[in-house]
Amino acid sequence: MPLSPKRRSRSTARVLLPCWWVSFQVICGVLLLNWQAQRELQAKARFNAEHAIEQFDRVLDNIAQAARNLLPLAGQPCEQVKLPLREQVTRGTFVRSTNLFYDDTLYCSSLFGSYREAVNPDDYTDGSLWLMDGNSVSPGHPLLVYRLSEGSKGAITTVDGDHLTHLLRLIDPDSDLRVQVGQHWMGTDGRVRNDPLPGFAVAPTALKSSHFSFTVHSGYPDGEVWRLMQRQYGPLFGLLVFLGVIAGAACNWQLKRANSPRAELQRALEADEFVPYFQPVVRHGDYRWAGVEVLMRWIHPRDGLVRPDLFIPYAEHSGQILPMTRRLMQQVAEQLAPHADTFDEGFHIGINVSAAHCQDLALFDDCQRLLAAFPPGRIRLTLELTERTLITPTETTFNLFAKLHELGVMIALDDFGTGQSSLTYLRQFKVDYLKIDKSFVGMIGVDALSLHILDSIIELSNKLDMGIVAEGVETQTQRDYLAQRQVDFQQGYLFGKPLPLDGFIDALARQKKEATVAQPSCP
Ligand code: C2E
Ligand code: CA
Ligand code: CA
Repeated sequence: MPLSPKRRSRSTARVLLPCWWVSFQVICGVLLLNWQAQRELQAKARFNAEHAIEQFDRVLDNIAQAARNLLPLAGQPCEQVKLPLREQVTRGTFVRSTNLFYDDTLYCSSLFGSYREAVNPDDYTDGSLWLMDGNSVSPGHPLLVYRLSEGSKGAITTVDGDHLTHLLRLIDPDSDLRVQVGQHWMGTDGRVRNDPLPGFAVAPTALKSSHFSFTVHSGYPDGEVWRLMQRQYGPLFGLLVFLGVIAGAACNWQLKRANSPRAELQRALEADEFVPYFQPVVRHGDYRWAGVEVLMRWIHPRDGLVRPDLFIPYAEHSGQILPMTRRLMQQVAEQLAPHADTFDEGFHIGINVSAAHCQDLALFDDCQRLLAAFPPGRIRLTLELTERTLITPTETTFNLFAKLHELGVMIALDDFGTGQSSLTYLRQFKVDYLKIDKSFVGMIGVDALSLHILDSIIELSNKLDMGIVAEGVETQTQRDYLAQRQVDFQQGYLFGKPLPLDGFIDALARQKKEATVAQPSCP
């Protein structure tokens, strides 16, 4: 059923699609934020490494200057140069000690004065820098040593590792910075190691100093991207979820609208999926086809041919029955008018109308247009009003019915016997025909009480001078019973089922031929 509100697959889709949409938006948003966080950490890691190099270069510049100042004194007796050595310690901001060596032997120190110790140039990276994990004065305490030589003369200056550790910690407390000199490296814990340098899980960055032989490594531990997202993007993430939910709700609303019976009917109306089927109505006596009842069908693209009782109630409820009937009447005119010459004079065309039509004067124009499509007098238009829903008598209704009668349009009360219309009601609306409901016709030869009602209806119509049509005639017994009671018109599968235009026109032609053969014209 195209309009059933209980379609499981549709309601599941209505729930799943918005959920999927919300999740999709949130996942995309999270991925975007994750990518943004990675970029931010990458930029920060690089900035930290550059900043660390700048600071270390400044410190090393300071102790290198002290070494340059002392180099000319190398080779002179320690007693003579002791004072300048100490003076450099005092002057240099970062200088912890100064030393002079000659022929790879350290012979004078700012700390001990005259002193002897071998100097091995291979201990120094590029012969100039050595990151030590302590010396004889402060074992286990980090120390960065700078060596400057010229021939056999040379000066050595040192900086306390604490300066370096402080710098590493100050630059970015969240990041992990390491300084590497040759095989030795030191992190923010201030310990010098010479095992392989461990890599960083997030944003690993390594930058070399262009002035001195050291490298700074920077980066972040595993999970730092999510920690940054939590720290910085919390409100943004909240906004993202909020917008996602709004988008999901909008999607749900759209789906509801698109899947509502109203939208589905509107779509079908625009796609011209409602088409007329034609069922013959035969007259009393010779059973010639005296007319036709137009019955609406929905050619649904997925569900195929849909019976009207499955969608007409929705259309009546939503008010869409008005444009649907208007379009149906246009199609009837377009399809039947070209065959008008095959119709007997006064051929009946019955159109079903709903209660809502009776409050709308536009029905008059629709009828006028339909009649205008045929040669004058060729057809008789009958509007079939069901007795199941009684029409509220208003000024508009009376006005409309009066105008319709003036136009020659007749009114038939459909499904007669199933509602509670009174005699007053029949007179008020000047009903021309009563259509006996098929449930009574079906009882012919079966149920005595229903048969009694059927007889009463026929009698009543005679008394009120109304025409009578019996619908749902399926057997010859029913046909003969109704014929005996002079019922004006009969309709039912016995004479013909509702057919699309081509089938109906062919059947009409066949029926006319058979009738002509049965009644040869007099010479
Ligand atoms: P209805 O106006 O009483 O139409 C007669 C119904 O009885 C039709 O069903 C027809 O196919 C069926 N019928 C005719 N002869 C026989 C028979 O010998 N045996 C049986 N068992 N059924 C027979 P259908 O076409 O399914 O239409 C059902 C109802 O939908 C109609 O009842 C009418 O109330 C409504 N309908 C159909 N087309 C329209 C329309 O264009 N506008 C409005 N407002 N209602 C319509
Ligand atoms: Ca009808
Ligand atoms: Ca009926």
